[in-house]
Amino acid sequence: MVARAVGAPLVIGIDLGGTTTRAALVDRDGTIHSRHEFDTPEHSEQEVLAALDDAVHELLDDRVLAIGFGVPSNLERGSGRILRATNLPLDDVDLVSHASSRFGLPVAIENDANVATLAEWKLGAGKGAANVMMLTLGTGVGGGLVLDNQLYRGWVELGHVVLRADGPPCHGNCHGHGHIEAFVSGTAADGAAAELYGDGNDARVLVARALEGEGRACATLGEIAALLGAAIGSLANIFDPEIVVIGGGFGEAAGEFLLEPAQEAARKEALYPADRTLRVVRAELGENAGLAGAGLIAFEALAEAG
Ligand SMILES: [Zn+2]
Repeated sequence: MVARAVGAPLVIGIDLGGTTTRAALVDRDGTIHSRHEFDTPEHSEQEVLAALDDAVHELLDDRVLAIGFGVPSNLERGSGRILRATNLPLDDVDLVSHASSRFGLPVAIENDANVATLAEWKLGAGKGAANVMMLTLGTGVGGGLVLDNQLYRGWVELGHVVLRADGPPCHGNCHGHGHIEAFVSGTAADGAAAELYGDGNDARVLVARALEGEGRACATLGEIAALLGAAIGSLANIFDPEIVVIGGGFGEAAGEFLLEPAQEAARKEALYPADRTLRVVRAELGENAGLAGAGLIAFEALAEAG
């Protein structure tokens, strides 16, 4: 049995990741209870669905009113059908129907970066702003948008915007070149660390050396920050966010080297008044953002179900 806040309405939030899946009970304030995590099965759709069913069963009791999933996939608009997950064997899957028929509860689904953005806006670094952009710098570069006080529910791939034509190849399934992700992701920082210090060194080493004041590490992070800022400035001229939230493993670890110079570089590219007011800030919820956001969309599904 798991401990819960007595009497509070709860939902189950599940953050399905390419490597790790997190599940928890979430209350209306986005507070997380009884969090647990497990390795995401990687071989078959049946295994993934069975693991998600188990995760729900483990948390389910009669105070749970809805279920929300954050998934690393683009989704069919309207139905929420998973079209194709990144790094997971989920192709054309109706997880909403699967879970709602199995558990008899309202079920919500949204892209994982979008739910993290929702959580940072409602509960974290973007609180109070009407327009927020989030960029997660991890293995790749993900992102999400809140526009006019609403989460934009489309497929937002802010990391795959061209920053330098004919630049280095992008990562993963992307066939493009010179995309934001190729310059400012954790993977890009891994490559820079290996180039500076030899194979086997990664972004963690780069940040650790910069913290020691090592010149080349500081200069490399400075270059990444300048490119991140240029990207943010360009995106800010489209979406006009008041706040840009930087999350993701690399983004948060390297925050003290990235945020200020990126804000300065972004303001150089941004149009008035963002050239004076645009703020680039660190995410506040860390890896709980996905879980809290999955919980928030579950409460939305509950409200819609009436
Ligand atoms: Zn790309």
